[in-house]
Amino acid sequence: MKGNGAFVKRAMVIGGGIAGISASLDLGNAGYDVVLVEKLPSIGGRMLQLSETFPTLDCAQCTLTPKTVETGQHPRIKLVTYSEVEGIEGKAGDFSVSIRRKAAYVDWERCTGCGLCQQKCPSKNPSEFDRGMGLGKAIYTLSPQAVPNKPVIDPSHCRYFKEGKCRVCEKICPVKAIDYEQKDRLVEERVGAIVVAVGFDLIPKESFGEYGYGELPDLIDGLAFERLNSASGPTTGEIRRPSDGKVPKEVVFIQCTGSRDPERYMPYCSRVCCMYTAKHARLYKHKVHDGQAYIFYMDIRSTGKGYEEFIQQGMEEEGILYLRGRVSRIFRDGEKLIVWGADTLTGRKVEVSADLVVLATAMTPRKEAKELAKKLGIEADDHGFLTEAERKLRPVETKVEGIYLAGCAQGPKDIADSVAHANAAASKVQALFAKH
Ligand SMILES: Cc1cc2nc3c(=O)[nH]c(=O)nc-3n(C[C@H](O)[C@H](O)[C@H](O)COP(=O)(O)OP(=O)(O)OC[C@H]3O[C@@H](n4cnc5c(N)ncnc54)[C@H](O)[C@@H]3O)c2cc1C
Repeated sequence: MKGNGAFVKRAMVIGGGIAGISASLDLGNAGYDVVLVEKLPSIGGRMLQLSETFPTLDCAQCTLTPKTVETGQHPRIKLVTYSEVEGIEGKAGDFSVSIRRKAAYVDWERCTGCGLCQQKCPSKNPSEFDRGMGLGKAIYTLSPQAVPNKPVIDPSHCRYFKEGKCRVCEKICPVKAIDYEQKDRLVEERVGAIVVAVGFDLIPKESFGEYGYGELPDLIDGLAFERLNSASGPTTGEIRRPSDGKVPKEVVFIQCTGSRDPERYMPYCSRVCCMYTAKHARLYKHKVHDGQAYIFYMDIRSTGKGYEEFIQQGMEEEGILYLRGRVSRIFRDGEKLIVWGADTLTGRKVEVSADLVVLATAMTPRKEAKELAKKLGIEADDHGFLTEAERKLRPVETKVEGIYLAGCAQGPKDIADSVAHANAAASKVQALFAKH
């Protein structure tokens, strides 16, 4: 699509997590049209996977769902989900962005979101959304409250794509929306400014080989714990360990696994782990009153408003045992996981016979963030976090006029900081549009 020279006062937001949603709503409410491009079938990002959130312990879906619904219904926001940016040309006021709309194998215009196809789909595979603990279907939406509420077929799990027979979803669909012949499509959008909000991942199992992560079923990461504690998760919110479904009576949480470890893993602090580990331990105690939670920590970083008090409450009122020190080894002994560590405050060795171990693994950039940065002509640091124009005074601008950053794509942040960063990015876009 070629521009006609006029400055386009329309924005694109790439990434539909809480940062991208916040930036889109700000811009839409200010009267600008927004194209929100999301890689997954629906918006919400990591927050969709969370159970409750610190520091208030509000249910994550209760805060998020009104925002996703508002975004989905907003007259100025065009949702382009299950899509990724292929290429970009142009400059501030006149970017032409080509977007790959992945084949969903479902005609979303026809689909009413009734959910019958998901109920009847016979294939069952480990659900990525539930961190491999629950079973998902080959035709799926990410959550019951998905926005948009339209399913996609994953050909790598679909019996028809793999074996040439099944077609149950096609037979059952009352509006004939299944389309196995659907192909990826390239579409173009012309916008004047772009906000990049592609968020974060956790360090993958292939890169973090400590303690038996990825091998021992009862040694899980923080997002897996969120799913265990979530009413929509694989145990409908009961804390049960993955191997045998037993309620764990001793749980060890380990902070800074893969973060602040320049020799072997990530040198930086992931910023949210001290808080979400305290949250996990407290939520565990709320459900398993006679259980014991231990937290191994290096030091505690709780700098947000009300954060220190949140941690203190866990220690003083809920009996969470904090152990300052590192864990040297974890191994299986029958049904138990034996955790060997050191308490550096008392100088003593510690051994805990645990039922479940939860690692606060490092937050990392999305693996494709560097590639996206290259397409957009912006910079990324050595790890892949996108780089702002200036650390202190220009924290949302990039070196390319008209392209801004929001949320964890720029570095680890909690929800409040991600939203504030997104609000700032949206104001920068409005300031740019106001100049023309
Ligand atoms: C275990 C755990 C517990 C947490 N608990 C809390 C808590 O209790 N309270 C709190 O304040 N914070 C918490 N956090 C932090 C919180 O998850 C983040 O602050 C928040 O999710 C950041 O939002 P975001 O939009 O920047 O990124 P994300 O949530 O990662 O969203 C990014 C979106 O961009 C999409 N995307 C990625 N790549 C592309 C691409 N190339 N093109 C298009 N779209 C793309 C993704 O699919 C995703 O939808 C927790 C984090 C973890 C790991």
